[in-house]
Amino acid sequence: MTCEEIHFGPVWFIPGVNRGRYPHCNSLYIHGPGIVIDPASDEKRLLELRDREGVNEVWLSHWHEDHIAYLDLFPGATVRICRRDAPPLEDLETLLDWYDLSEPHRGYWRRALLDTFRYRPRRVDAYLAEGDSFSFAATTVQVIETPGHTPGHLAFYFPEQEALFLGDYDMTSFGPWYGDRHSSIEDTLASLRRLRRLPARRWIAGHESGVFTDNADERWRRYEGVIHEREANLLALLARPHNMREIVEAWLIYKKPREPVAFFEFGERALSMKHLERLMARGLVAERDGRYVRV
Ligand SMILES: [Zn+2]
Repeated sequence: MTCEEIHFGPVWFIPGVNRGRYPHCNSLYIHGPGIVIDPASDEKRLLELRDREGVNEVWLSHWHEDHIAYLDLFPGATVRICRRDAPPLEDLETLLDWYDLSEPHRGYWRRALLDTFRYRPRRVDAYLAEGDSFSFAATTVQVIETPGHTPGHLAFYFPEQEALFLGDYDMTSFGPWYGDRHSSIEDTLASLRRLRRLPARRWIAGHESGVFTDNADERWRRYEGVIHEREANLLALLARPHNMREIVEAWLIYKKPREPVAFFEFGERALSMKHLERLMARGLVAERDGRYVRV
């Protein structure tokens, strides 16, 4: 586990500021073709790459703000993303809609996106899709569609380097996010199992730990386990009826109240709602008069 820049041949791991924690991520740089994947890592290092090595293209694992920040450093670069994740990149109100944000949280987020993340609408030049394979002098990039976190989330596999860029299936102890309008727990589970089966020996996470090469089975098991643990905790809470506000105030996801409230309450509600929907679809929870209860 490391947070230093590492070069696997032409595939460069560019660690994010503050160990790639939100609002930053870790980036990849493919030397030769000059491709940056997920530019929200480290403005200073990205500027060096642009000015010394050259950046011709920016590829995005998905549309979230902590992966697209610093896109404005590369105004002439070709931008590629999965077609299903393109709309929020091209329009800020669509992005806010996809987070299901209403006032007053919507206003907070609009300002944060414009100021902190330097969001500017960006036209997508070309789409990346499952099965796409790009060959360069010393590496190949295979595009792996891994929906769930977002509908068009992408991972990238480099067979020569046996390296797999996981995007936001980030293997953190917090666990996976699937709280947006178009996120899905079922798709997340399927994508995690798909990623786990790929013949990688080096995994590159979009946040925190960065690169790891050992204990992969244990890491995958723990990361997926967070999903099942959240669901079990919610089911236990609903032995007695709770309304949505009471569920949020139980802090089952983040474990305790955190600041800024606009961020964490939103996340707590969004992830809890996805679990509620899943439990109701399976007939394990029912809604009665605005309260949810185990049946
Ligand atoms: Zn994300």
